[in-house]
Amino acid sequence: MVQLKTDTHIEAMREAGRVVAQILTSAREAAAVGVSPRELDEVAREVLREAGATSPFLNYRPHFAPTPFPAVICASVNDAIVHGIPSSERLRDGDLVSIDAGALLNGWAGDSAISFTVGSARPEDTRLIDTAFAALDAGIAAAVVGNRIGDIAHAIGSVCRTAGYGIPDGFGGHGIGRSMHEDPGVPNEGRPGRGMPLRHGMVLAIEPMLIGGGGDDFRPDRDGWTLRTTDGSRAAHAEHTVAITDDGPRVLTAL
Ligand code: MG
Ligand code: MG
Repeated sequence: MVQLKTDTHIEAMREAGRVVAQILTSAREAAAVGVSPRELDEVAREVLREAGATSPFLNYRPHFAPTPFPAVICASVNDAIVHGIPSSERLRDGDLVSIDAGALLNGWAGDSAISFTVGSARPEDTRLIDTAFAALDAGIAAAVVGNRIGDIAHAIGSVCRTAGYGIPDGFGGHGIGRSMHEDPGVPNEGRPGRGMPLRHGMVLAIEPMLIGGGGDDFRPDRDGWTLRTTDGSRAAHAEHTVAITDDGPRVLTAL
């Protein structure tokens, strides 16, 4: 069931979203060749502490997970698409890093992700990352009253496919509010004009995931969490928490 938010709720979610933005900004600033994802997780924990917020990721255990998630960020490097457990392995020149972060503040959740490279970027990685953010922008632009979920999905999918990238089936965005994952699901590919109508007060996490090799296949890592591309190609992920309002989409996880 979709839980519509009041304007007061949306303001509270904006504050949670701001904390997520601060986590991602700090993690991005700290990321460099020779720094480990686990160190970025420490940076994120400090931001949460200072904000008086907690993490919806830490100890999260969905049905598919063999163990509770041990960190406050997901750090997915190179062929990892999403759900990477931050490791102590240091980042190397040219690595493509996707960081996904969440925050719980005053009972409301925020969820956002960025992708970037450290050191000298390969041009194909820059193009992949730029396309992930372009797909996110297209999805947000379609998140307007009068449209349907399928319009968001179609907008995201069109950008990804036109650029020649793959889309992992079965993973995508979601409603968000008191908890990180609520109804409805927001697929990263779909048919326009289909699905649930968008209404003022719906809050959605919109999150394109792109596979650079162009295929859609992925596999879980042995850790049971990390999803990797089957062909070994690199992947990118971008996400914002977005409120649908009569005045248009409002990004809640910007700084
Ligand atoms: Mg996320
Ligand atoms: Mg999400």
